[in-house]
Order: sequence, then structure tokens, then C-alpha cells
Amino acid sequence: MLPFKLVYSDDYFLPIGSHVFPAEKYKCIHDRLLASGIAVPSDFVVPRPATDQDVLLVHTAQYVEKLKTGTLSAREELELEVPYSPELVRAFWLGAGGSMLAADHALNDGVAISIGGGFHHAFPDHGEGFCLIHDVAIAIRRMQRDGKIRTAMTVDCDVHQGNGTAAIFAGTRTSSEPLPSVPASTMNPSRPAKTSAKTKMHSGHAGDVFTISLHQENNYPALKPPSSIDIDLPDAIGDDDYLAWLDNALSSGLRQFQPELLCYLAGADPYREDQLGGLSLTIEGLKKRDELVFRVAKARGIPVMVTLAGGYALKFEDTVTIHCNTVIAAKEVML
Ligand SMILES: [Zn+2]
Repeated sequence: MLPFKLVYSDDYFLPIGSHVFPAEKYKCIHDRLLASGIAVPSDFVVPRPATDQDVLLVHTAQYVEKLKTGTLSAREELELEVPYSPELVRAFWLGAGGSMLAADHALNDGVAISIGGGFHHAFPDHGEGFCLIHDVAIAIRRMQRDGKIRTAMTVDCDVHQGNGTAAIFAGTRTSSEPLPSVPASTMNPSRPAKTSAKTKMHSGHAGDVFTISLHQENNYPALKPPSSIDIDLPDAIGDDDYLAWLDNALSSGLRQFQPELLCYLAGADPYREDQLGGLSLTIEGLKKRDELVFRVAKARGIPVMVTLAGGYALKFEDTVTIHCNTVIAAKEVML
């Protein structure tokens, strides 16, 4: 039995047909966690869909109406890069409910993992990059509305920048004036020696949500709205450099901001064999990444809610392994 809950429903499945996004991954992860004995059935809790009221905490009424009535324009539909259907909308509402439930359990148990979610490319007024609505932002806003937290930090380790997250929470900053790009060595002496990722730090983040994104610079999205901290990684960096940058970003972020909830987007797509990624992390390196996030949060007593985000490995089984390893990492660190 795990010392935390896993949030999952068979209805997390996204009805998008044959697609680079392996929508069956959620069920395969669930099944493998059980078959391998990492989890038992009582570790799982089943979410209910978010209500429209929850979704409206983040998204515009006009956009929600378009999604619910199937009245997106052809261009808006194209931008989703997944085929629109009412069933798909229902799956996304359920995913948002799952992230809300994970946030709630994380506040009670220290950690909770939704075997889904992480749709960080959704904006208040539109969806893109396989993301209709932003489940993590909805969960944060719901926890805040319920008075359960005041502040949160997103730590986005998907290979693609969290553009929706940055845009949604940008409005909560008192100032969005960017500082000039600075080498991380000026902020932290443990700068990785071999790479020269660009760190962008933005002043006046004094809103209620601090956003960190580590991503490949030369990748989607072309336009990257500023997060509180963006680490623009060069192509093909490997485990050691990535972990050093993550360590830097976490220490720097947590020096500036004390979140009451950490929302970790554990994308599997920084993997070296990912079809939509261009970094060179190994499966072992990705597990160390997960461990680092959990260790840092545990040391500071910050609850962590996890969502899975992307994963498009050439071998589907690798994506399942990387996501299962996130659960194993949490178990090892939290026990
Ligand atoms: Zn991604």
C-alpha cells in the first residue's frame, strides 16, 4: 500500500483516434502499477468531473461555451491538434476534476499523483497543443477559492514550455518586467559546467502562484510567455546537466517564494527517445529528476500534487515505464 493516493479513472482516456499522443497510456500505467505490485487497488481514488464553475475559475465564459456547444472555429479546432468531440470535452473536465482531487489529497497526505492531467498548453481563452483546458491551474484556483491554500508553485518538467501556465498566472504578478537574461552562475555557484542554458527570471512575481518551467528552447511553443523562472535548455542535454539546472531552479524559486502547494508536471518527453522532444535524458535520469523534486519538497514540508503531462517515446512501453517510475520515486522518497 502506498503512503499517498493515486487519482485515476478509465475515463481519462482521450478519444482522439490514432495519434502521436498515446491516450491509452493512462490505463497502461494504472494496470502496470497494479500488476507489478507497486500499488494495490485501495491506493486509487476515482475523480468526479470538474464543474463548469470550476473551469470558469481559469477559462473565459466564451471559450467554455464554445467547448460545450461544439462551436469552435475551424482555426481554433486546428490549434488543439486533437480532433474535437463532446466526449473529448468530457474527458478534459474529468482530468481537471482529477487534478483537483489530487491537490486535495496532497494537502492531506503530503503527496498525491493523478495518473493523467498536466495540460499546460491551455490558455484562458483557447486551447492548443493537445490541451483543451488547464487542469492544474483549475486545481490551484479551486484550492484557493476553498481557502485551502493561498500560494502555489508549478514545477513544469515537460520538455515543452508551460505557455498556458505562464499566461494564466502572469496576471497575478505585480510586475511582469523581465530582468535581462543572466547566466545561472550569477545566481547559484553550482551552475552546470558543460551547458549554457538561458535562465530567465522575472522580477515582481509577488502574485500567488510562482511558475517554473524547464524546457527545450528549440521546441514548441515558438512563443514562450514568461514564467517566473524559465530555463531554456539547449538541444540534447543529458541527465547530469538537466538535474543541475533543475536543482538551481528549485533552490532559486524556493528562495524567493514559499508555496503551500507544489504542482509538479512530470512530463515523460525529455526522454532521449521521445518523438516530440530533443533532450537526451535517460529513463534513470528522469527518475532521479522525480526524486529530486520530491526530496526538495519533503525537506521543506511542501505538499506535492503530480500530473503526468506529455510522453511520446518511440517505444510506447518506455513512456509507461517513465510515468510508473514517478510513482516509485514518490514512494521511495516519501516512505
Ligand atoms: Zn510536452
